[in-house]
Amino acid sequence: MKDYEVVIGLEVHVELATKTKIFCSCSTEFGGAPNTHTCPVCTGMPGSLPVLNKQVVEYATAVGLATNCTITQNCKFDRKNYFYPDNPQNYQISQLYLPICRDGYVEIETEEGTKKVRIHEIHMEEDAGKLVHDDWTDCSLVDFNRSGVPLIEIVSEPDMRSADEVIAYLEKLRLIIQYLGASDCKLNEGSMRADVNLSVREKGSSEFGTRTETKNLNSFKAIARAIENETNSQIDLLESGEEVVQETRRWDDTKEYSYAMRSKEDAQDYRYFPDPDLVPINISDEWLEKIRSAQPEFRDEKRARYVEEYKIPQYDADIITLYKPLADLFEDAVKEGSSPKEASNWLMGETMRIVKDKNIEPDQVKLEGSAFSAFLKLIQDGVINKTVAKEVFEAIFDGGVDPVAYVEEHGLKMDNDTDGLKKIIEEIIEKNPKAVADYQAGNKKAAGAIVGQTMKATQGKANPQMINQIISELLD
Ligand code: ADP
Ligand code: MG
Ligand code: ZN
Repeated sequence: MKDYEVVIGLEVHVELATKTKIFCSCSTEFGGAPNTHTCPVCTGMPGSLPVLNKQVVEYATAVGLATNCTITQNCKFDRKNYFYPDNPQNYQISQLYLPICRDGYVEIETEEGTKKVRIHEIHMEEDAGKLVHDDWTDCSLVDFNRSGVPLIEIVSEPDMRSADEVIAYLEKLRLIIQYLGASDCKLNEGSMRADVNLSVREKGSSEFGTRTETKNLNSFKAIARAIENETNSQIDLLESGEEVVQETRRWDDTKEYSYAMRSKEDAQDYRYFPDPDLVPINISDEWLEKIRSAQPEFRDEKRARYVEEYKIPQYDADIITLYKPLADLFEDAVKEGSSPKEASNWLMGETMRIVKDKNIEPDQVKLEGSAFSAFLKLIQDGVINKTVAKEVFEAIFDGGVDPVAYVEEHGLKMDNDTDGLKKIIEEIIEKNPKAVADYQAGNKKAAGAIVGQTMKATQGKANPQMINQIISELLD
């Protein structure tokens, strides 16, 4: 077999986090009874007129700036004409001739070092409605709630050479867009959707092979599997002397295989033309500067700063900055005077454990910065001990609970009453002659049994340092 190389370019759709749709004031909120978030504009009624949502332009521009694109300050919308039942106008308002962003790139980390993945363009467009296939009544229904939800489509150059590079690129985009607050970028909920264009060629060849496009990929795992599957089947075709057909395929992740949806259409099939209902967009220098100056601190800078300024290990900074809500929690706590390492320990240890238990994503954590800071202060001030702290943390984790009030109500304050504690320990020592004998024979670990029983007797509220001190006083 010849030595092959895989070539991949991505088309990534991202639903923008605007409150209202791109060309009308209907809500973009997910869910809702079918067709309740609709109006004449987003259901394509004749005579209705679109009005552009300014926020869409701002988000698209912000993403373009963050991905090193040139912003097309004079751009416009075009109609992409096609019929499909989820598309009531019979055209989609999109951008073909003058996309809002062009010629950008992002940097990804690969095994061979940093690599640039070039972005061909980013354009704005509207999402379509959703068909609901009802097997029960043997018919298809259409829900237009999603019709007109704003999207950006980020088109890369065919610069990726492996599934790992594709995932690194998507992670990078996700982080940039989440840090901007422009979308929550959830592959499993469809707010980020990646279509994989893939071809193979003999290693060393300077020409690209014929590509296929695979759709319906809703997790990183599905993307990796689809890439492997498509690479192998293209190589098999070439090895057996056949040709790859340029077509769009749909991935079925449960069957781990893809099937042809349609042969590839060309842009000319859509009869694009400038949308006569919308005026061209002019992004003035002032507006552009305003958007530029409002850009947040992104992940890479944050990560470097955490190590530099707060002296937490690189490993901690890597994990915390991977999810914007965790980075926000960390910064809130540090701002309120928490030790950075203590804050990061809770974010990496207990937070990740609970997230896994609850089977949620780290970016779904609802704990408020104020509650997290107050919680850390309770530990730092010696109000609660580490055992109780875990219980309190679980209690405040989902948000809406004040840790100070919680500790008060549940009587969880650390017991600092030395005399009381001494009495308890004396009783325990009396009941455990074996542990005492072992301890006094030099096996200091035998104290563990006494500490354990003391904690139990005090419902976990005793001060561990105090226990150790009293044991030492009594037995040494
Ligand atoms: P179209 O406009 O027909 O969808 P484009 O040329 O704009 O096609 O490319 C769409 C995507 O396919 C881009 O992300 C691009 O990087 C990728 N692509 C183009 N040619 C190839 C190829 N031979 N192999 C892999 N990906 C490709
Ligand atoms: Mg395309
Ligand atoms: Zn509407």
